[in-house]
Formats: sequence, C-alpha cells, structure tokens
Amino acid sequence: MAFESLTDKLQNVFKNLRSKGRLTQEDVKAALKEVKLALLEADVSFKVVKQFIKTVEERAIGQDVLQSLTPGQTVIKIVNEEMVHLMGSDTTEISLKPGSEITIIMMIGLQGAGKTTTTAKIAGKLKSKGKKPLLAACDIYRPAAIKQLQINGEKQGVDVFSMGEGHKPVNIAKAAVEHAAKNGCNVVILDTAGRLHVDEDMMNELVEIKENVEIHQTILVVDAMTGQDAVNVAGMFEEKIGVDGVILTKLDGDTRGGAALSIRAVTGRPILYVGMGEKLSDLEQFYPDRMASRILG
Ligand code: GDP
Repeated sequence: MAFESLTDKLQNVFKNLRSKGRLTQEDVKAALKEVKLALLEADVSFKVVKQFIKTVEERAIGQDVLQSLTPGQTVIKIVNEEMVHLMGSDTTEISLKPGSEITIIMMIGLQGAGKTTTTAKIAGKLKSKGKKPLLAACDIYRPAAIKQLQINGEKQGVDVFSMGEGHKPVNIAKAAVEHAAKNGCNVVILDTAGRLHVDEDMMNELVEIKENVEIHQTILVVDAMTGQDAVNVAGMFEEKIGVDGVILTKLDGDTRGGAALSIRAVTGRPILYVGMGEKLSDLEQFYPDRMASRILG
C-alpha cells in the first residue's frame, strides 16, 4: 500500500519519546496529532476527525497509556475501538417483512454513484436468501438506465418492471407494487433517478414517491471515491428524504474509505454493504472492524 502505516508511525513517535523517560499528557497529544493526520489523509471529514480525536484523547489520557510499556499499541487499540464503535460495532442487515408480505425498498443517490448496479446486486443477494424481488425502473430521464436495469435484472434472474419514460416515477412505483402483489414478488426495489448534484427537482421527486408509496427502507448509495463530497451528499439526503441504510460503492478503488467513518457520524445510519467492483457479485457485507483497519492503514 502506498500509505505509511499509522501503527508504524505511532510506534516511532513513542519510541523517540520513551528515550527521554516518562511519558506526559503532551506526549500523548503529540501522538494523537499523527492519528489526526492519518484520518484526514484518509479523507475523513474535519469535523468528524476533531470530535473523534477529542474522544480518543480523553480515553487515552484517563487510561493506561502513560504507564503502558507499549503506548503506541495502546493508542492504536483505543483508536481502533472508537472507530468501530462509531461505525456501528456490528454488521447490519436490510430489514425485510416476513413471508409473502411485500418489502418496498427505495434506492437513492447521485447519478454515477452506482445506484442501478447496486440495485441489481442487492436483488441477487435477496434472491439467494429465498426472496422474490422485483426491480422497478423509476429513472425515466436516462433511457440507458432502464435498459441497464433490464440487462442486469436478466443477469440476476429477477423481473424488472418498467413503463418506459412517459410516466411519473411515483406512478411507476405504485404500479410496480401492484405488479409485485399480482406476481408473488415479496420485495420491490425502486431504482430512482439521480442527478449530478443534489437539486430540488430530484428531492421533490423522491419526497413525492415517499409520500405516496409506503417505503419500508430507503437506501442511499454513495461513491466512496468522492470522499468529503459523499459526506455532504449523505447529510442532505438524510435531512430531506430520510435514510435507513447506506451502501458505499467503489471501495475496490484506492480510496482509504474515510467516507465510511464520516457518513456514519453525519447521518447516524448504518452502512449495510460495500461495493467492491463492477460485477454483480461484487457486493460485500460491511464489517466496521475491517473498515477501521483499512482507514488507519
Ligand atoms: P447510477 O447512475 O448511480 O445508477 O450508477 P451506475 O449503477 O450506472 O454506476 C456508475 C458506474 O459505476 C458504472 O460504470 C458501474 O459499473 C460503476 N460501479 C458501480 N458500483 C461499483 C463498484 O462498487 N466498484 C466499481 N469499480 N465500479 C462500480
């Protein structure tokens, strides 16, 4: 990996400090500066880093770091624990209704984030759990999006509901739910339209769907490569639409994934899955501990 390991860096800092005898609070603070830099380098947002360092510092100074024979490792352990805590401690599943009851999932996010691809990826996961998903093409602005969903749905062996471009997304969503009920599908996944930036039309369209269709889960898809922007976008979607879970895509790229930490902190919502490639099988469960190690390097 191109990044210098934070563990190595901290161990060096403490080794140098050790040679002068006892450690002081200032020494711990100096070491935490390295942690701060590492997190900023990993693209965790500044506000989140500041709060995070404060929490770690309180724990570190109140604890055994000053006496520890291995202060570097003790600090790393605290940092790691706090990161995992912030990202949700455990894996979270998409919550589904039992049996034949229909769960309606709305996928939201900016254009290019990976929404359409992820919709098909999720359908595959649900199918392998014994569910019968129906994908609904509600992105009427990009004819390619409808086609893409159809092709991916076919690859996954799941039905795709489409009414072309001549209908309002809210009406397509309603019709999709009726279609699901008639055809024995028990999950409907709405692939909604994104835009290049957050804009009012997009938000209004999503609000209209949410007000007229009983959405059980709203899942936000964000591109991990966009770093700080991803966090701002997530904050806006959470505020305007409400988000139940997040999927972070393109983690197969060379981003450290700091967005994972910030998004969780900013929205308070769990990350459900991570996208690890363009193939429809490239969707993995999100493990906070693995993510913490990746961000720390
Ligand atoms: P949408 O506009 O949000 O629906 O985005 P798309 O699903 O069309 O995806 C945009 C591009 O990102 C496509 O080229 C996808 O193949 C790609 N993509 C989606 N998810 C991932 C991922 O996890 N990793 C990588 N490397 N590419 C992805």
